[in-house]
Amino acid sequence: MQRILITGAAGFLGSHLCDRFIDEGFHVIGMDNLITGDMRNIEHLFHLKHFEFYHHDVTKFVHVPGKLDYILHFASPASPIDYLKIPIQTLKVGSLGTHNLLGLAKEKKARILIASTSEVYGDPLVHPQHEEYYGNVNTIGPRGVYDEAKRFQESITMAYHRFHGLETRIVRIFNTYGPRMRLNDGRVIPAFIGQALRGEDLTVFGDGTQTRSFCYITDQIEGIYRLLMSDYVEPINIGNPHEITIGEFAEEIIKLTGTTQKVIYKELPVDDPLQRKPDIRKAKEILGWEPTVDRSEGMRLTYEYFKSLPQSELFKKEH
Ligand code: NAD
Ligand code: UDP
Repeated sequence: MQRILITGAAGFLGSHLCDRFIDEGFHVIGMDNLITGDMRNIEHLFHLKHFEFYHHDVTKFVHVPGKLDYILHFASPASPIDYLKIPIQTLKVGSLGTHNLLGLAKEKKARILIASTSEVYGDPLVHPQHEEYYGNVNTIGPRGVYDEAKRFQESITMAYHRFHGLETRIVRIFNTYGPRMRLNDGRVIPAFIGQALRGEDLTVFGDGTQTRSFCYITDQIEGIYRLLMSDYVEPINIGNPHEITIGEFAEEIIKLTGTTQKVIYKELPVDDPLQRKPDIRKAKEILGWEPTVDRSEGMRLTYEYFKSLPQSELFKKEH
């Protein structure tokens, strides 16, 4: 039986990856320190013989007994609110954590895929963003802790590939959404839906002309799976190129939820990228992958999920 270690297993993407690899017949070892994750995302797996969980901080030495065929390194805060609140941990998990996992992959002769991000392009001067673009990141800005950790993560991963011959894969993930996002994690989709459900006005940051392109979780997981199983070593963008302004998106949420609340405008966070849309030609050509879930369907499913949560979740303030 193939054995896979998934870090960040109790988080949004990590928990869906655990489900997918269980379904594919793997023995799955989840690892998480729960800094932004939630055990409820994986509690349905605990009765399974082929699922194990380690409560562990990957910035500390990582030891896993037995053989490992694959490692997916997804541990890292991912919401701007989270990584602004825990900047040092964010830098450490991208740098020290990645170093530990590359070392483990080398010892076990495992193939490792690391979760990078569209944030390596920063506030991009090239649109849409293709993989050859080097990016426009403010190293010392508040978002720099995440962006530079991820850029370092890509560099050290390529160094392990070139120097040690390690089998590595790098996915550059663009804004992904769906069930199991934390309602209060501050990202725009849970923020708007949470506001609509609580009967609050929707907070658009800046003038709402900044753009994002939202990818539904099942499409993202399929792209990651195909990349892991491919021979392609350089970074690949996985995201949905259907771009929308945040102002228009707020209007879509108002329609979807039927809320009678209005949009209010708040200050744009420092270094908030003004436009973002993945160029997915590589994913199409190399992985035969493209998204299949359009935003209206993905948002309907996501809204159903948030509506099904207990009321107490809705009013739990984290930040
Ligand atoms: P998330 O916050 O839901 O999950 C991250 C998980 O990592 C959490 O369970 C957290 O507790 C765990 N974690 C953090 N630091 C850790 C440490 N030191 N040791 C062990 N566990 C630790 O976020 P997510 O949206 O699921 O993101 C997962 C990965 O995907 C991250 O690496 C993120 O950078 C990347 N990513 C996500 C998106 C997106 O749109 N969701 C976009 C780009 C990149
Ligand atoms: N945003 C917003 N209102 C909110 C939360 C976010 O207008 O309540 C904006 C944010 O400024 C950014 C976009 O929505 O331009 C996406 O933000 P998110 O935190 O989801 O992810 P990012 O792509 O910035 O990492």
